Amino acid sequence: MNDTATQQSQAPVVRLRNVSKVYDGQHALRDVSLDVQRGEFLTILGPSGCGKTTILRLVAGFENATSGSIAIDGRDVTGLPPERRNVNTVFQSYALFPHMNVFDNVAFGLRMKRRPADEIAREVGETLRLVQLEGFEGRMVGKLSGGQQQRVAIARAIINRPLVLLLDEPLSALDYRLRKQMQLDLKHLQRKLGITFVLVTHDQEEAFSMSDRVIVMNNGVIEQVGTPVSVYEEPCNLYVARFVGEINIIDAEVVEPGDGRARVRTGGLDVFMRTGHAFRAGEKAHILLRPEDLRVETLKDLAEDPELEDIFARGRSIVGTVEETIYKGATYDVVVRLDAGGVVTATEFFNEDDETVYFRAGDRVAVSWVEGWEVVLPYEK
Ligand code: ADP
Ligand code: MG
Repeated sequence: MNDTATQQSQAPVVRLRNVSKVYDGQHALRDVSLDVQRGEFLTILGPSGCGKTTILRLVAGFENATSGSIAIDGRDVTGLPPERRNVNTVFQSYALFPHMNVFDNVAFGLRMKRRPADEIAREVGETLRLVQLEGFEGRMVGKLSGGQQQRVAIARAIINRPLVLLLDEPLSALDYRLRKQMQLDLKHLQRKLGITFVLVTHDQEEAFSMSDRVIVMNNGVIEQVGTPVSVYEEPCNLYVARFVGEINIIDAEVVEPGDGRARVRTGGLDVFMRTGHAFRAGEKAHILLRPEDLRVETLKDLAEDPELEDIFARGRSIVGTVEETIYKGATYDVVVRLDAGGVVTATEFFNEDDETVYFRAGDRVAVSWVEGWEVVLPYEK
């Protein structure tokens, strides 16, 4: 392999540098920089209108960036038409040829390349097997279910083995159960093929269950990039914390900054907490806690069992009153109004023996968590 080839294979498969896109004087994307690694499953996650589709359209070559640069496989693709980018797109709307059968839809790309008929037949059969549509060759696509049509669209997009497959909310037209199944199938397909997938979704659970890495977007900018675990457990700001799941936000004050930790005070609590942020003494802050990380005990139980108190709190608990409990099926939520102000929600499991809700509205309780499970962020208005 010569030096150029080596460089190309090590370069990110897609690289965006300071990309902006302006429509009618409005920024759809603002200064977006991003590396997509070879063979990864990357998901762009964000609410409607935040610029997800715009990123895909720029990478695919359906649009040009207003400024910045895009490289695919180490080569600048500015001005290169979509068909010369070695990238394929799967759309939410399938975009199949309704008057053709499954075979002809999937064979389309290879026929355009004038490949021999026996090779096309072999490749189509193999690809339909990958998307679990063996035996559907002769069916008209208009007669297939939504899920089957989307499988045809995926087969058509992967048959040329593109370097990158772009998927724009491909599952959002499907009902819940089918969507869950297709999420798993797509993930397994990506692992099997080793093709880089860039998926767009507004569904946090979908992003987490499929991806190696997630990009959280807001209003044309990237807020955070990381593994699903890091984005969920270590959100960089309140927007990301809220977008990727339920979160409790407790107002607090930093009384003593430190290296990698800070002494934080809130509602009778005054303890050191882990934080990556450099605070000043007296600065306002937020303590972020996921509901499943909170534990609740009644003050009565704690008083009756000193051992419980010791295991439970380890010096970090906040007192309040249960406002209500909310049945969730596998778990229930306990909503606690804190004496010091504010409301937190803790997710609890049912009693093993009788499946009952342990807490009642009006119960005096303490809320606690394992040291280090909190995230302490600078105060945002
Ligand atoms: P998403 O896919 O995250 O829902 P889009 O990338 O489609 O968001 O759109 C981002 C922003 O750019 C939106 O405000 C949208 O209205 C605007 N936009 C997208 N495409 C066009 C276009 N062709 N003309 C004008 N505005 C557009
Ligand atoms: Mg979109």
